[in-house]
Amino acid sequence: KNTVLEMNNLKTYFYTDKGVIPAVDDVSIKVKKGQIIGIVGESGCGKSMTSLSIMQLISPPGKIADGEILFEGRNLVGLSKAQMRSIRGNQISMIFQEPMTSLNPVYTVGKQVAETLLLHDSSISKQEAKEKVIEMFKQVGIPEAEKRYSVFPHQLSGGLRQRVMIAMALICKSKLLIADEPTTALDVTIEAQILKVMKKLQEEVDTSIILITHNLGIVAEMCDYVYVMYAGKVMEQADVYELFDNPKHPYTEGLLKSIPRANVDQNKAKGLYSIDGMVPNLLHLPQGCRFHPRCEYADATCRVLEPELVDTGNGHMVRCLKYKNERG
Ligand code: SF4
Ligand code: MG
Repeated sequence: KNTVLEMNNLKTYFYTDKGVIPAVDDVSIKVKKGQIIGIVGESGCGKSMTSLSIMQLISPPGKIADGEILFEGRNLVGLSKAQMRSIRGNQISMIFQEPMTSLNPVYTVGKQVAETLLLHDSSISKQEAKEKVIEMFKQVGIPEAEKRYSVFPHQLSGGLRQRVMIAMALICKSKLLIADEPTTALDVTIEAQILKVMKKLQEEVDTSIILITHNLGIVAEMCDYVYVMYAGKVMEQADVYELFDNPKHPYTEGLLKSIPRANVDQNKAKGLYSIDGMVPNLLHLPQGCRFHPRCEYADATCRVLEPELVDTGNGHMVRCLKYKNERG
């Protein structure tokens, strides 16, 4: 069994007094051992809700309404907080753009990361743990790592605290790492450094990674396989080369066209899209294909018929009524 995570037909809905919001709408994702998969799309497309669903961090009025999330064959849906806690760490770890868990203000940052490590690897000594933490601090771009080991969280800038959180997530060498816009808030140099550490983890200990980002440059560099999400649904999924060479969904085409040019200031241009129109309000989804208001190929059929995700061969799937006949 080579599959680490298998999400089948997941529905994460929010039951608000204005109506039901289908934040994740029948999404299936598979992650193999050592594979880096990307989930891309504009903000509000359901990428983060997908990752929070895996971690069982959806809170009311949100709820996993249907589907399963198998981690090494075990369904995570419905597990208690305590059960999930035992899976976090060396099984699944996560990095969020806005940390869900914050650092404890009364302990030094080095000690906190060392303790996380010791908790998951009882075979190492405290001194070894300290050395490993300092090494990891260096790898994620924390300057003067030895000195930073002994400071308290409030003595660090937001960017450095984020790097401490990243170090904490990476140091356990978990089987699955979920990284949701892990580097978006960071400088491009640091970003590159952190992506490198992630790649190294994947190469050295076969960690599987789910990388959620709106930056297609990062996807091209890091991922093996990509899911493109729009308004809660997967619109297209394919091997990374196939997706970039031969995008079949108009939304993917739009995303690819809007990759910032290399000569633009990378920090400024980071992930800025310019597809006309906006992600629809999930409370009032357009009829038919939910992308039709923004699609230049839309016709009358697209306005009434909702496309299915269709397998076009070689693991390339697309949800569009016209990808074949008219558009090749
Ligand atoms: Fe565009 Fe129609 Fe395809 Fe939707 S189904 S993406 S509206 S062509
Ligand atoms: Mg998000």
